Amino acid sequence: MIQKHETPMRQQDPKVRIGNFGEVPLGYAEEEAVREAERCLQCPNAPCVEGCPVRIDVPLFIKHIKNRCFAEAIATIKEENSLPAVCGRVCPQENQCQGVCTLGERFEPVAIGKLERFCADWEAEHGCISTEIQTDTGYRIAIIGAGPAGLTAAGELRKLGHDVTIFELLHVAGGVLMYGIPEFRLPKEIVKREISALERTGIKIKVNKVIGQIYTVDDFLVRDYDAVFIGTGAGLPRFLGIPGENLNGVYSANEFLTRTNLMRAFRFPEYDTPIKVGRRTITVGGGNVAMDSARTALRLGAKESIIVYRRSEQELPARREEVEHAKEEGIEFRLLTNPTRIISENGYLKEMECIRMKLGEPDESGRRRPIPTPDSEFTIEMDTVVVAIGNNPHPLVPRTTKGLDLNRWGNIVADSKTGQTSKEGVFAGGDIVTGAATVIEAMGAGKRAAVAIDRYLKTKR
Ligand code: FAD
Ligand code: SF4
Repeated sequence: MIQKHETPMRQQDPKVRIGNFGEVPLGYAEEEAVREAERCLQCPNAPCVEGCPVRIDVPLFIKHIKNRCFAEAIATIKEENSLPAVCGRVCPQENQCQGVCTLGERFEPVAIGKLERFCADWEAEHGCISTEIQTDTGYRIAIIGAGPAGLTAAGELRKLGHDVTIFELLHVAGGVLMYGIPEFRLPKEIVKREISALERTGIKIKVNKVIGQIYTVDDFLVRDYDAVFIGTGAGLPRFLGIPGENLNGVYSANEFLTRTNLMRAFRFPEYDTPIKVGRRTITVGGGNVAMDSARTALRLGAKESIIVYRRSEQELPARREEVEHAKEEGIEFRLLTNPTRIISENGYLKEMECIRMKLGEPDESGRRRPIPTPDSEFTIEMDTVVVAIGNNPHPLVPRTTKGLDLNRWGNIVADSKTGQTSKEGVFAGGDIVTGAATVIEAMGAGKRAAVAIDRYLKTKR
């Protein structure tokens, strides 16, 4: 008899976890992983593989878990995915592999993500699986940006024997995995561990290198490199454009999360980089970034943390699991509400003026368009605001590279199958091409571009 529901994963009690930055779900023990693996039907057509942007052989790795061959399970995953501990924690599996799982037609789908996480954590405890590297080709490739797109492209190119150097603007590699996604969802030690495994394959990572200022893509091509991959992400915050947005106490989610994650504000006074959060914080937005910001505010000491979102619950773009976790922690959702003005008194934030919204016809995103209800303004008292309404592409590299086609939002135009841009020898992928998307989509793009770069180099020969 198949177990109808997925094997639950133990997690920190909501009342306890809002007082710490420790990880919320605690992982499967071996017995739990094996029990969950036994639910897999081993479908011959394996729709879960199609549903995975990097095409992990899902039934095979699950079969290995069922047979307690955990080293084989992680080796199978790592053939296709160089960041399994990350993906097992933050991928929106419900829309990908698990969304198409055959078992899901009758019961809850197999918890593929949780099993992936189990394998990666098992590897961390029991020693690393080594990666096979082909003979050196002599080709040199520059990767710009050490986020999931750049790291994946680098990993794949290195496996093929190429000499790969990543140039990263920040003082650490990882992109959003390090500066954006909070510790309680993705511990930074885990990101560092996966990056170290990549470095051990021979990839060089140069941090504090702002490409577009110290060197340009054109410099790379003229001087030392045979090809360039651009994976600079969408790190430029969008703002509401309403009065009061420049007041002290209003943060972009980027600043708020970067100061917390990267500058370790949550470990003040051990780290001398505090961040001020008042009694009541309002976060504007409904995506993962908004959930992360509102939940971070609670952990930084806010007594109340409110999400203001202009559509209804059904349209919230955040992962379902994150919304549920936010609710369990006591985050309040003010839906169909849009800010119109931020008001201060004596230099301190006091109130947010909002207007009530209703939903009209679907817009180009397929979601119903929010429409303001005339004369429905009201105010909410607060003392901190975090704006989490999306990001634009990082402009520096696109602006300083000659002959690179951009779309009207400033994203680099690149072939979706190869990452080839309008410039010979230059490839791109991840959020800089698609706009803000997901970790696994960025990784999928990095992987496809690596195959295309390898092909390009061979034809250059
Ligand atoms: P990034 O991760 O942005 O990495 C780009 C890198 O390029 C950065 O390190 C940046 O510093 C560097 N760079 C930029 N310009 C330059 C330059 N000029 N020179 C050198 N380096 C440069 N996705 C999920 O799948 N699940 C989630 O739960 C999830 N939660 C998220 C939560 C937050 C708070 C945020 C912000 C995003 C979240 N995402 C999530 C989205 C996901 O993180 C991104 O889609 C993904 O990181 C994109 O990868 P990337 O490599 O394209 O870009
Ligand atoms: Fe197993 Fe679901 Fe994949 Fe079928 S679709 S092989 S049940 S994980």
